[in-house]
Amino acid sequence: MRIVLYFFVLGCLSSCMKGEEADFVVFNAEIHILNEGNEVVEAMAIKDGKIIEFGPDRQILNKYAYGSSIDAKGKEIYPGFIDAHGHLMSYAELLLSVDLVGVSSQKEMIERVVAYQDLNQKNVVIGSGWDQSLWENGSFPDNHILNKTFKETPVCLYRIDGHSALVNDAFIRLLGDFEVPDGGDVLRGEDGSYSGLFIDAALQLLEPFIPKFSDQAMKDKLMEVQTELFSYGVTGVHEAGVDSDELSLLDQMVSSSELSLNIYAMLSPTESNLKFAKDKGVYRNKNLLVRSFKAYVDGALGSSGALLKDAYHDHPNYNGLSLSSMEELSSLRDFCLSVDYQLNCHGIGDSAVARILNMCKGAFEHKPDHRFRVEHAQLVSPNDFRLFSDYAVFPSVQPTHATTDQRWAASKIGENRMDGAYAYKSLLSQFGMIALGTDFPVEYTNPFYTIHAAVHRKTPANYPENGFLSDEALSMEETLKGMTIWAAFASFQEDELGSLEIGKQATFVILDRQMNQGSIFRPNFSWLTCIEGKIVHSLE
Ligand SMILES: [Zn+2]
Repeated sequence: MRIVLYFFVLGCLSSCMKGEEADFVVFNAEIHILNEGNEVVEAMAIKDGKIIEFGPDRQILNKYAYGSSIDAKGKEIYPGFIDAHGHLMSYAELLLSVDLVGVSSQKEMIERVVAYQDLNQKNVVIGSGWDQSLWENGSFPDNHILNKTFKETPVCLYRIDGHSALVNDAFIRLLGDFEVPDGGDVLRGEDGSYSGLFIDAALQLLEPFIPKFSDQAMKDKLMEVQTELFSYGVTGVHEAGVDSDELSLLDQMVSSSELSLNIYAMLSPTESNLKFAKDKGVYRNKNLLVRSFKAYVDGALGSSGALLKDAYHDHPNYNGLSLSSMEELSSLRDFCLSVDYQLNCHGIGDSAVARILNMCKGAFEHKPDHRFRVEHAQLVSPNDFRLFSDYAVFPSVQPTHATTDQRWAASKIGENRMDGAYAYKSLLSQFGMIALGTDFPVEYTNPFYTIHAAVHRKTPANYPENGFLSDEALSMEETLKGMTIWAAFASFQEDELGSLEIGKQATFVILDRQMNQGSIFRPNFSWLTCIEGKIVHSLE
């Protein structure tokens, strides 16, 4: 009894001597703060969702009285990963549609549609995820077999990049007479009839006939997506383009605390979204921040919609599609500046990128720290790189696009233009920062694929052995910053997020396995993910 009392008094003394209070401490860790000096420390103390101190175990454990603690067992901790370009809504829709990701032939694609329809009996069938570059002849499909299998039920199957769709004749009949809008294409077969392929702006013709999923169905899938992201330590997403219905669904789910992911929403420039920005200005609801627009200047390279300065290598006299003119971009720029919003432009081909950069000249002259972004920047003319620094334009790229597109990129643009392709190091050296994302569901959400692609320029299957255009590889440190502090900067949230410094959010990931420094891919996961001091995922 005496001994017990002795320890009780001693325990009380030690906690009474600890002058300061924390909600919890994390210790026995290798915490990569990702501050200026790239410090690595053992422990941190957290209070009210924020980091209040970091340092050696002894210092933190002795100084603070805390309610609970996390023994990180020597594991590495990084700021929560931010995916600077993803599509939560499209991913949820994909999960509700026929999943065509990875189909290896047109036959397999149609088999999947049939299996889905047998179960679901939809009036209109929507699928997503096919990529003809994975098929034997690599050429675009037509709707011949689809028409035979689905004579009466309209079917619309989106390509993986969302920039084209294959529809059957039953769907085309819904459209009645139509004109192909500028910036779009509807392909025809040799006999002059529609082949079923609608590209870029022509997809707008299909939209009125695409059934909407219920809010509840979307919410359920968004929760699944969030769980998947947390399992990889992804705690923030820059949602690249939402309409007003989508924004209000995200807003509701943030208000009800269902979504605790940090969401930086880019608005599509629709009438109602422009009104939203004008009326509300910069909008913050807990973990949702709205202060940017997303504009499309061209299409995607995989469906030959990227706008090139010189003709496609495999398509003479054809330069791709223009989705926004210089006048349209400039007027959107002026609107954004007037409401203190950022403008993020999808630009894949060198001509589209040049148009965006030149538009940004006006933004720079008005407001040097505008942080306008080029999303993708897949092909940049050698003479245009300097414009990123001249006009302070933020490059936002997706390293797994490089390793996915390597199979066919040169066949589209020709070897002589590969110098400015997927040139992440060159972009970084111009602006001094680069934001990294995945573009999910076009690519997988897995940030460890991004790291491997950025640092080693290889697929998770380690192809090619020596890396694709490996001169453009980023270092591990640059890559991690691109997924954390620079991505935070790209969304005006660097004071809150992106590094584990005092006063910032306690939003971090404890890695399950050590960060892989080698050039052979090794899978990894989050061991524990924490957002603003709350554990949202744990393997224990
Ligand atoms: Zn995208």
